[in-house]
Formats: sequence, structure tokens, C-alpha cells
Amino acid sequence: MIPNDSIIALATPSGAGAIAVIRISGSDAIAATTPFFKSIHGKKLVEQKSHTIVLGHIVEGKQTLDEVLVSIFKAPNSYTGENVVEISCHGSPYIQQQIIQLFLRNGCRMADAGEFTLRAFLNGKMDLSQAEAVADLIASDNAASHQIAIQQMRGGFSNEIKNLREELLNFASLIELELDFAEEDVEFANRNDFKALIDKIQKVLKRLIDSFAVGNVIKNGIPVAIVGEPNVGKSTLLNALLNEERALVSEIAGTTRDTIEDEISIGGIGFRFIDTAGIRETEDVIEGMGIKRTFEKIGKSEVTLYLFDASAVISAPNEQVNSGLKAKDLLLEIKKIKNKYPQKPLVLVANKIDRLSEEEISNLESQFRIPFEEVSNRSTRQSDLVLLSAKTGQGVEELQSRLLQFVNTGALRNNETIVTNTRHYNALLKALEEIDKVQLGIDEELPSDLMAIDVREALYHLGEITGQVTNDELLGNIFANFCIGK
Ligand code: GDP
Repeated sequence: MIPNDSIIALATPSGAGAIAVIRISGSDAIAATTPFFKSIHGKKLVEQKSHTIVLGHIVEGKQTLDEVLVSIFKAPNSYTGENVVEISCHGSPYIQQQIIQLFLRNGCRMADAGEFTLRAFLNGKMDLSQAEAVADLIASDNAASHQIAIQQMRGGFSNEIKNLREELLNFASLIELELDFAEEDVEFANRNDFKALIDKIQKVLKRLIDSFAVGNVIKNGIPVAIVGEPNVGKSTLLNALLNEERALVSEIAGTTRDTIEDEISIGGIGFRFIDTAGIRETEDVIEGMGIKRTFEKIGKSEVTLYLFDASAVISAPNEQVNSGLKAKDLLLEIKKIKNKYPQKPLVLVANKIDRLSEEEISNLESQFRIPFEEVSNRSTRQSDLVLLSAKTGQGVEELQSRLLQFVNTGALRNNETIVTNTRHYNALLKALEEIDKVQLGIDEELPSDLMAIDVREALYHLGEITGQVTNDELLGNIFANFCIGK
């Protein structure tokens, strides 16, 4: 049975603001609000039409708590599919609490995290992947993750899965029918059509599964490691990159110093600079990171920026200078990294070029580009040399566009479905596994009863994504991650 008791929560962020919105949902939501709301024109709230807004006061006995606007949405035409009341009050935390407490004393209970959206799902207002997209949309903080979430919320992904499932379901019923006539050796499900369908489903599933590689990094931000010897300009570069978009910068302070990360958006894609604590704190810098930690950091990243001080290398190519390695050692170091992580994109960043003359810059190019390309296995087209000055900003834009090149944004531009959710990804993998078995079954002309089992399993996993197949534990896990009031 779908719960329909009245739940209440603050829908806007807690704290003071110009306006706060308190939301009540349940079959009695409007009736429960009516005794405590006096509209300015005297009409009772229950008599008010759906989708209207009324000005009035929240009152308890003789006491007026606030002047408010109340919006009414009658079932089933509301977010949750139930009767919904939204009270827009003045945004003082005191007023918010007084109003919420008033309704808690009078028949409402505090909503759990995500409970409004859970009800929307249970009442058929949206499917499970759309409900999950609501949480992603709220969490999105750059153009790419926003685009994916809004597309998913509007049902793009769900429709794709639902259509596949529908077609598979048709065949499943034909195959099941064959089971009823097992004695007579009939084939209701045309094997050629069936094979064509299975091939199609396989293709779509593979495309969706592949999209997760992009989707996952877009959703969480692409992890970038900035490494290099002390004093080559790592923190200056980090600041130069972050300053470009101060407004979008966030510092995620984790439980340990090591997990401090800075995030920026370049061309609408989120990039996460990992383990910036080490870069920022001078003591660490002086001690250097050591190759083990450098490797660890590179292991966690999608792209590595390896910085060196071009001015030091040029002025003393074969000597150890205070900020940087000898040119020869530098290439050796890069080779080590490339050996360990052959597939990881690495950008060699020659910093401090403001200290160099034109001639020195072109020398640098010839001194580094070719040996670098040799050690970095140019065939993967995933390595590059960028010359810049973190101090003056020259070349920083160039570096940003190189970073973007490492992200396959083709799918984004073409508005293709991109899977960002690990739960969906796992369900797709399982569905594909079953579909592969079905394909093998067709090729080997297996009896229908055996194939029917695999088809059913595939249907089950596809249904898990949209919530056509579900269970309480799964729903509990999904909605527990929502914020209260959503
Ligand atoms: P880190 O130890 O690698 O993080 O290096 P820092 O960012 O702390 O920089 C070390 C020194 O190099 C500082 O004095 C910076 O001002 C200087 N520096 C960094 N980038 C540049 C640059 O592009 N040009 C010049 N001339 N100096 C720079």
C-alpha cells in the first residue's frame, strides 16, 4: 500500500533567506492546513481551486505567525501525485520552525529524506531513473552534469530502456507460449526476428555501458593530478586555473588533509584537482612528494599535468638547479610514469616561460617535444607538451583546451544518452550478460525453456533501472541519499 499520511519539510535550504518554502504532501494536506490559514479574502483553503496561490496568514489560535502565500496542488496533479500545499513564508529560521512545529503538532509528520520524490515514484508521476535524476539535478554544478541530469529527468534514458524492454517482453511472451506447446515443436517467436532484436539490444546496451566511462567522470568531475618537483610552480598554476572561474570554485574539505580537492568548470565540464593539500602546504613542497606518492596520485587521476621549470632547464640543462631536475632526469622520470601508466593522458607543462627569450622558447620546443613524444608513446595521442607561464597566465588557456580534449564530449554534443549512475551501470552489465546468453542460445538452437529463463533475467535487470521491478530495500537506499524536503 502506498503511504498517504501528511508529511512536511522545509523545501528551501535551512537558514535565513528572503523567503522559505515549506511543503506538505498527503491526502489530508489541504484539510490539515485549512484551520491554520486565514486567507485575506476569507475563503477557506479547502474551497480553493487547484494550482492557485492565496495570500493570507498562518495563525494558531489568536496568534499570527506570519504573512504567507499558500500554493495548492490537488491530487493527482502535483509533484507527488497527492494533495500538496506549499507555504511560502518569510525566511527566518524562527518562523520556519514555528510553522513546521505547528503542523507537526497537528497531524503532520516530518518527511524522510527524498520522501516527496519517493511518493512521486510510487504514485507513477515518474519512474525510478527519473527520480534519481532529480537528485543529480540538484547536485549538478556544471553545464555537462546539468545537461545529463535534466535529460534523464525528462525521461530520455528511461524511454530508451522501456522501449527495449517492451520489445523483449513481446518476444518473451511468444517464447513462453512455445513452452505451453512444448510437445508440438512449434516456434511462435520467429528466430530471425528474435536474433535481430537481440543484436539490437546488445548494441544499445553496449553503447550505454560504454557511455558510463564518460558519464561517471562528468558527474563526479574529471580527476586531474598536478605533479612535479618543488618550486616548479604547481600551486601558482593551480591558482591560475582556479582564478579563471572563482565563482565556481569549491573546496571540498574531506576528513583528512589529503582529500582536499579543488574543482573548476572548463567549457562546462567539471575538473577536480586531486590532493591539492600537498601542493598548497609549503612544508610538503620542500620535502617533495617522492615517487611513490606521485604514482599514487597519478593512479587516482584521469589526466596528469607534469610540471617543470623551463627557465631552470634552459639555464642549466645538465645541472640540478634549485627548482627542477636536469632535462635528462626529467625525461627519465616521465618515462617511469609512462611505463607504469601507459594509457593515462599526460601533459608535460613547461612553466615559467616568461623568463625565457623567444629563442630559448623555440630551443625548448626542440629540446623537449621530440624526446618527450618518444618516451610518451605518441601513438596513443594522449600526451602533449604545453608551454606556459602560471605567473602571467600566458598559455593557461591553451592548457585548458588540452584538458578538454581528453574528455570525449561527442556524446554530450550529440545529446546521446549518457549513463552516470553506478546502479544503472551495474544493471546494464547484468542485462547484457543475460542477453549474451540468449544470443548464444539462439545460435546453438537451445530449447525455448532455457532461453526463456535468460530472457526473464534480462527483463528483470532492465526493469530494475526504471523501477518496473523493485523492492523496498532498493528504494530505501536510493531515496536515503536525497535531501530532506525533496
Ligand atoms: P610549487 O612548489 O611547485 O607549488 O611552486 P610554487 O607555485 O610555489 O612556485 C614556486 C616559485 O616560482 C614562486 O616564487 C612562484 O612565484 C614562482 N613561479 C611560479 N610560476 C611562475 C611563472 O610562470 N613564472 C615565474 N617567473 N615564476 C613563477
